Amino acid sequence: MHVIDPHIHMSARTTDDYEAMAAAGVVAVIEPAFWLGQPRTQVGTFQDYFASLIGWERFRAAQFGIRHYCTIGLNSKEANNEPLAEQVMELLPLFAAKEGVVAIGEIGYDDLTPAEDRFFRAQLELAKEVGLPVMIHTPHRDKTRGTSRSMDVCLEHGLLPHQVVVDHNNEETVKEVLDRGFWAAFTIYPKTKMGNERMVEVVRKYGPERIIVDSSADWGVSDPLAVPKTAKLMIERGIPTAQVTATCYANAIAAYGQSGQIRESDWLAPAAIDQRQLFSGNSVLRGQQPRIDA
Ligand SMILES: [Zn+2]
Repeated sequence: MHVIDPHIHMSARTTDDYEAMAAAGVVAVIEPAFWLGQPRTQVGTFQDYFASLIGWERFRAAQFGIRHYCTIGLNSKEANNEPLAEQVMELLPLFAAKEGVVAIGEIGYDDLTPAEDRFFRAQLELAKEVGLPVMIHTPHRDKTRGTSRSMDVCLEHGLLPHQVVVDHNNEETVKEVLDRGFWAAFTIYPKTKMGNERMVEVVRKYGPERIIVDSSADWGVSDPLAVPKTAKLMIERGIPTAQVTATCYANAIAAYGQSGQIRESDWLAPAAIDQRQLFSGNSVLRGQQPRIDA
């Protein structure tokens, strides 16, 4: 079965992860722009990071047979450094227009501060201008209030629910998100409440419509195989295959396909892997035999 991980920070992962993901059926990933675990201090580091998402990381994924897309945005934590955030805002339109950029994101609230609100709203306006969907990061604290507020603000700015993916849902938030017509994404972190088992029950209860499964794997404790593992568990627990395909593959294409930048033909008829290829003179290999598919 083909699956997509529509929220994973591959820049923080290894080539072993790419190999394991491809072997488990992951055909495409979406890498949202986010923070690095510590605050950036210069606009140039944002610029180089965004450039790596559309450049090197896209190349690196392809070397292991995975299509790589990204979202561009100023994350909520770093919105709190307002002088720097203002400079980042000036960069965003340039990167949002690049090939493979499927949304503005991940944006939203972390601590629900006035600065976060200001830059969230500014980026919703940008999404409308450039005609891209939006990926919302909902806060881990005060989740229910933060999720409602995020949707309210999207509507205030004239976005339509089907243009917005609300991520990091749980059993407390899912009903409101679906009732209001937004896409409801779920992050499966290992050893936490919203694990694979709970996800199976969410799909059993709410059905597959507008539900999306992702790993949000990054440099923290996380699992880059969360989506294929959840798909497998759903099958074992009797969820119909069509519903597994919807939640672990097709819904992500429908939501982010609104960008015009991601389509099934990208991986159904992929270029053959040739690890002799270089990007800016650099290879993914360190003296190993290159993999060359016919
Ligand atoms: Zn993330």
